[in-house]
Amino acid sequence: MRGGIDRLTNDISQRTRGFLKDIRCRVRYCHVAMRHRVFEPTRESALIIAPHPDDETFACGGIIACKRSLGIPVVIIVLTSGENVFDRPSTWEVVSKIRQQQLISACNRLGVDSKSIYLLHLKDGIIDQLSGQELLEVVEFLSSVMKTHCPGEVFCPHPEDFHRDHVFAHRLTQMALKRSGIQANIFLYLIWGWYHGRRGLVKRLEDTKAVLVDFKSQAVAKALAVDIYTGPPYATEGVPYCGNLPRSLLDMFRRTRELFFHGSIDT
Ligand SMILES: [Zn+2]
Repeated sequence: MRGGIDRLTNDISQRTRGFLKDIRCRVRYCHVAMRHRVFEPTRESALIIAPHPDDETFACGGIIACKRSLGIPVVIIVLTSGENVFDRPSTWEVVSKIRQQQLISACNRLGVDSKSIYLLHLKDGIIDQLSGQELLEVVEFLSSVMKTHCPGEVFCPHPEDFHRDHVFAHRLTQMALKRSGIQANIFLYLIWGWYHGRRGLVKRLEDTKAVLVDFKSQAVAKALAVDIYTGPPYATEGVPYCGNLPRSLLDMFRRTRELFFHGSIDT
C-alpha cells in the first residue's frame, strides 16, 4: 500500500514538473520569437547538419521544403542513426534501421532525395567521445561535403542546444567550416535548449540576431514529415522511435515559422 502511494506521489510530481517545463518552454520560445521579424526563405542553397534523424525535419523542415519546392539544392548530413534513444543496447540494431528509413521517408516528403543525404553513423549519445583520429576524419568528411556542394547557407544546432550530441554537432560544424574555407551564412537552431536550456539563455538569445522564417506554403509537407517520426509504427505502445517528446516541442514542430539565430565562424 505504502509503495503504491509512493509511486502515485512520484508520478504526480513528475507530471507536474513536466507540465511546468512545457509552460516554460512555450513562454521562452514565444518571448524570443516575437522580437524578430518574419522573412520569406531565401533562394540560397543549403546544407543542414543534424545530430540525429529527425532534427533536420523538426528544426528545418519548413525551410527545406520551401527551398526544394523552388528547385534549390539542399544537402543533409545526419551524424548518428539515433539508435540510443531508449538507452538499451539490445534495441540498437532495430531502432537504427527504422530511424534510417524514417529519415529517408521524411526527407523525401520535404523534397530531398536519398542521394542528397549523408548518414555518418557516429555513436548516438556520445559523439563528443570521438578519438583524435576519428575527429579528424569526421571534420575532413564534413569539410569535403561543404567544398563539393558550396552551400550558401549552413544550418546546425545552436551551441546551447543542451543535448551533448547537439552541442558537439555545433563544434564539428565550426571545425569543418574553418577547414573548408567556404563562405556561407550560418544559421543556428534550437530544439532541446527551449525545453532544458540553462538559466540566462533567453537573455542571451534576445541579444542575438535571428530570423523567423515563414513557410506557410509548405506547412503540409513539414507536418507530414514530422508525422513520419512521431506517428506509427511505434517502438512500444504509443512511443515513437524518436522517443517520447514533450508536448511543447511537438507543438513547436507544427508551427508554420522556424526561428534561426545568426552564427559566425568562431575565431
Ligand atoms: Zn537530436
